[in-house]
Amino acid sequence: MKTMIITGASRGIGAATALLAAQNGFAVVVNYRHRRAAADDIVSTIIAGGGNAIAVQADASSEEEIARLFDAAAQLPGVLTSFVNNAGILETQMRLEQMTAARMQRILTANVIGPLLCAREAVKRMSLRSGGQGGTIVNVSSVAARTGSPGEYVDYAASKGAIDAFTIGLAKEVAAEGIRVNGVRPGFIDTDIHADGGEPGRIDRLKNSIPMQRGGTAAEVAEAILWLASEKSSYAAGAIIDLAGGR
Ligand code: NAD
Repeated sequence: MKTMIITGASRGIGAATALLAAQNGFAVVVNYRHRRAAADDIVSTIIAGGGNAIAVQADASSEEEIARLFDAAAQLPGVLTSFVNNAGILETQMRLEQMTAARMQRILTANVIGPLLCAREAVKRMSLRSGGQGGTIVNVSSVAARTGSPGEYVDYAASKGAIDAFTIGLAKEVAAEGIRVNGVRPGFIDTDIHADGGEPGRIDRLKNSIPMQRGGTAAEVAEAILWLASEKSSYAAGAIIDLAGGR
């Protein structure tokens, strides 16, 4: 059996990915930071469906907690073969002139340093060079990396631009060691992250600017993540799939 670790999997895209991964035969480590009950619900659903999963509390931007998260995967019957760098944050919409240095630090720590540290742990465990069995890493970026999110959160957009560069570079670094690194770039997806930005109705306001005239669902993003984590994408490395309704 194969094990997948997903950061920030108690809700949204991470939760949808956890459920689909279990349906695809993965044992799943459901990482959460604060929402234990929600993470437990995802685990219960997976177990009720005959799958394997555990919930592991850890701040996916803390070096020590990340190591503990990856060690916890040994509690599952499978071998770690997939990691999904999903956890990410944004903060209240504002212009750059209003942003504090503390906010920029929070965004870059959560969205860039954390994912790099997590991927480091995944590579250490999966690389053929270090006795691992190879595997896949999927980084969750954002269409914001292309559009820049002016007037809303250019800090967030910049952090996702960094993730895209990281996906390309790490993919080349570890491709010969049995690890395929790829990314997804969601557009407007219907999750609670928009409420964190101060506008729960953001997708409704902006949907007419989307060629498909609607936001996407977390399940639609999860499908692409699972494809990249599967053998069906066996020749994809450094690929970044847009899931943005044509935006
Ligand atoms: P969400 O807020 O529902 O889920 C993100 C989860 O990550 C939350 O549960 C949050 O608590 C968790 N998290 C954040 N920092 C963490 C940390 N340090 N450690 C552990 N968990 C942490 O949002 P979502 O829309 O499901 O977002 C998932 C990913 O998709 C994010 O990386 C986000 O930037 C990206 N994304 C979302 C959209 C969208 O429109 N929803 C668009 C593009 C990209």
